[in-house]
Order: sequence, then C-alpha cells, then structure tokens
Amino acid sequence: MKIEENGKYDAYKAFGIDQDIFEFGEKALSNLESRFKQVDLTAEKNQLRVIRAMQENKVSSECFNGSTGYGYDDYGRTTLEKVYASIFHTEDALVRPQITCGTHALALALMSNLRPGDELYSPAGKPYDTLEEVIGIRPSKGSLAEYGITYAQTDLLPDGTFDYENIPKKINSRTKLVTIQRSKGYQTRPTFSVKQIGELISFIRGIKPDVTIMVDNCYGEFVEDFEPSDVGADMVVGSLIKNPGGGLAPCGGYICGTKDCVENAAYRLTSPGLGKEVGASLGILNTFYQGLFFAPIVTASALKGAIFAANLYEQLGFSVVPNGSEDRHDIIQAVKLGSAKGVEAFCQGIQAAAPVDGYVVPEPWDMPGYDDPVIMAAGAFVQGSSIELSADGPIRPPYAVYFQGGLTWPHAKLGILKSLQSLRDAGCLPELPSLD
Ligand SMILES: *Cc1c(COP(=O)(O)O)cnc(C)c1O
Repeated sequence: MKIEENGKYDAYKAFGIDQDIFEFGEKALSNLESRFKQVDLTAEKNQLRVIRAMQENKVSSECFNGSTGYGYDDYGRTTLEKVYASIFHTEDALVRPQITCGTHALALALMSNLRPGDELYSPAGKPYDTLEEVIGIRPSKGSLAEYGITYAQTDLLPDGTFDYENIPKKINSRTKLVTIQRSKGYQTRPTFSVKQIGELISFIRGIKPDVTIMVDNCYGEFVEDFEPSDVGADMVVGSLIKNPGGGLAPCGGYICGTKDCVENAAYRLTSPGLGKEVGASLGILNTFYQGLFFAPIVTASALKGAIFAANLYEQLGFSVVPNGSEDRHDIIQAVKLGSAKGVEAFCQGIQAAAPVDGYVVPEPWDMPGYDDPVIMAAGAFVQGSSIELSADGPIRPPYAVYFQGGLTWPHAKLGILKSLQSLRDAGCLPELPSLD
C-alpha cells in the first residue's frame, strides 16, 4: 500500500518550518524504523504490565470517587497504592497528591529513613541540583545536614561508569542509606540502565547487606520493561508530572518500596501514628489511574522524540547525550549547543510548538532550587510538567539543553523541527547535510 503524503509539508509550512528542514527530518526518520519498533515493543509489554496490575487489584469505578477531610477509608487511594506496588513489585507504595513534586518525594524518602548520626551516600556522583539543598551540600534551612546527617559521595569515572575501586572506601558503619540517581538530570553523563543499577546494588550489598538503597527513578519509569525495584532497590521514588502520571496527573509523587521504608515515609508525610491512613484524595484519582494507564505509550512518544532529536542534532555536528544510536534508559536528551544564544533559541523553538502558551517567548530566570539562571520551554497543560514536551537548560557551560517529553509523538516531532528552525532564525544552525 502506498501512503499518500501529498500536502504533509504544508502542515509544517504553516508553522514556519522551511522545506529543507522538514525533508531533513523525514530522511532521518526513514532510518529510525527499527529503533521505533523496539520502543513500541517495550511500550506494549509495559501496557500489559499496567493493565494486569489494575485487574489484579480489582480497580473499579468506585476507585474514582475520592474523599474529603481526613480521607479515612479512601478506597481509591488504597487501591491505587496497591496498583503501584504491583507494577514496581514492591511490598508497599505511597502515591499522593500531597507529595508536591519529585524533589519533595525524594526529600521525604530521605528525611524519613535517615536519623541523626546516619550517613547518606551517593556512589553515582553529584545528585540532582534541587537535592543539594535537601542534603545540605548547599546550606539550607531544614536540610539533612542541619539534623546531623552527613553525606558522602564517590564521583563517576570519566567514562560515566561507577568507580568500583573507590566505592568501598566510602561505606562505613554510619552509612545508612545509599542513593542512586538513574537519570542524568542536568549533567552530561550517561543515564544508568536498570541492569547497571542492579550490578551496583549487588556490589554494595556485598559490602553492607543491610543498607537501605533508594533509586531516584525520575524520568526512568517505563523506559525499560523492568524497574530498579526488580533488581534490589528498597525504594524507587519519582514524580507524577513525569512519566508515570501519563500527562494526566495534575500533581503528585510516589515512593514504592519495602513496608518499612514506605511506613517511615508515610509517618513523615502526614504524622507519626497517622501514616497512610489519612490524606484526602479529593476528586483527582481518576487522573492518576488514567494517566498511569497511558504512561507506557506516553513514555514511548517521548522516547521517539528523544531519539529523533539525537539523530538530527548529531548529524549537524552537535554533541548529544545519548548519541543517535545508543540504547535509552530515560526520556531526556541532552544537546550541547555551545552558546547561551543557542540554548535560548532551542527552547524558544520548543515553546513555539506548544498547544498552550505557544505565543510566549521564554527567557532565562533565577529558579528556586537552582544555582544558575535556567531557561525553560513549557507550553504545558500541567504547570512544569516535563512528560509534556519541554526543554530546559541552565545558562552555564557547556550550554547544554535538556529536552524531554511529548505526550504524542507528532507533537514531539513538530517541536524538534521548530527548534531547528528557531536556531536557523537566530543564526545558530549549521548548514544541513545533503540529503542523498
Ligand atoms: C525532575 C527530577 C527531580 C526533581 O523533580 P521535581 O519534580 O522537578 O522536583 C529529581 N531527580 C531527577 C533525576 C529529576 O529528573
């Protein structure tokens, strides 16, 4: 069957995209078929994993009712937490709209599972920017440091792998909790695969069997067909306005893990003694369920966008992490643009493709929790949602932009083509490679 593609460029032309940029994209796509098939296969397996978890836990329309006040006996909330525990193969889960974002979920997991005198240890280098204040690497009110909890770290080797030789030197009698960040975050190191994380966990357990191991799972959910909790993590933690919310959850975070870890977190989130028993879900649980249902496919759309972007920018001579051909372990694509002007133009292009606030021109600003000015492109239905097509970058060398999300693949594609156009309009786009 021949698919009639006449008029397809016109749809892009209406967005101000030059014909050669459009054709450059089409040519790149023709070489990505097998990659996209692989992404679809993972999505298919994960979709079935989610449906099975919902069936096993007898999700019913009653689950969408919600509760008010104390939120006692909230059947939908309890069932949702069972569904999450089933998906991540953990004993228990805490999935709440009261967890305001990923940083909050991580802070909650750390502060509730550490006590004065304990040491927190990262064998995977520097954690995500916003955690620096949580830990006290940058002094902050209420940090772990203020409570007498110390922090140790082993940097990654120059090739981005774990420094197995030096890790044992940092594990001592006070090491209570080990934190491993799956995704690169705002760094240009590679993201770890679940398999790599599993190897690291086994290694650490060989040194200290009873240590608690937490994985910052932000951006990693559903990218592979198993999760860090399948390879020995005691807790996996993330945000519902990233992958697992499927673009529909309007807020929230999750902690899935052992009964003990989750209980500690629940006692800290609400109150000692109350724990998981309280916390009104109001009327938003249907979005948590339906978003989770969509999440595998939404994650696949975002992955396709990331792979497409990597291939285009790589062909143009920009350094990209991951590169155009390597396996993916999260939905983030880093592109080193080499100048502040390039970072701004890229983000402005992404914004110009947005269904919401598409007319707005983003500029760098001093965001709470971050050290340098950050520019963010986010024309999102949910404020700050980065499972929706978004791009951001701190204005600092090497002037890398971090691109992620896309609830649908066609939207991700449009955004990437617009980013190229925006770079061209700003005089930052090199000549396109010839198409034959
Ligand atoms: C996004 C992210 C966080 C923080 O989540 P917020 O929801 O932005 O607070 C933490 N760690 C990683 C790796 C992230 O990607």
